[in-house]
Amino acid sequence: MYCVKCGVKLADSEVRCPLCGTRAFHPDILREEGEKLYPTKKYPSARKRTYWQQVFFTAAFVLPLLIVILCDMQFNMAITWSGYVIGALILGYVSIVLPSWFKKPNPVIFVPCDFAVLLLYLLYINIATGGKWFLSFALPVVGVVGAIVITVVALVYYLRRGKLFIFGGATIAFGAFMLLMEFLMCITFEGVYFKGWSLYPLISLAVIGGLLIFLGICRPARENMERKFFI
Ligand SMILES: [Zn+2]
Repeated sequence: MYCVKCGVKLADSEVRCPLCGTRAFHPDILREEGEKLYPTKKYPSARKRTYWQQVFFTAAFVLPLLIVILCDMQFNMAITWSGYVIGALILGYVSIVLPSWFKKPNPVIFVPCDFAVLLLYLLYINIATGGKWFLSFALPVVGVVGAIVITVVALVYYLRRGKLFIFGGATIAFGAFMLLMEFLMCITFEGVYFKGWSLYPLISLAVIGGLLIFLGICRPARENMERKFFI
């Protein structure tokens, strides 16, 4: 008899495939009765946060926010250092607590929100510190990373297939992004010159991405890998 999942040859006495763990079944070989076809254990349904828990988590972000503002106003009569704390708290709230207010948070909406808030936070730090790195460095870096991540999230969420192509493409895109990042560092920061270090991650990421896409195209190679790595 053979495993129905991975095709490995099994002894008649085998109850499970030793390689992939799939239950072995042969209609002519009798098994003891009584083994249920469905799990008898009751699994607790995914815990839903209650309304009051939501309020509690919100308060856990709002209270420190107010305390920080009050302290800053007390000593400096203005928002100075507290601006950074407020920004970080808002970023944390939007990325952690905000999606849980919704029954089925759609990552295709919330992930772009996270990147937008991160950009606003970086813009604030740039203005507050009088930096000149936002437009030529932070904006393109966060923008490109955000675009790649959002594309992957949207494709995985809506297509639910072809993951090897999606992740392979994203890996290659991140490799190209390394080159862009080195270039942006050169034009933004003084004393940084183009040395080509980004070529190393670019080449290795391109190879990994290419391999993922190759596995997506070539079915025998994919099945061979699945058997080797038990996935
Ligand atoms: Zn098997």
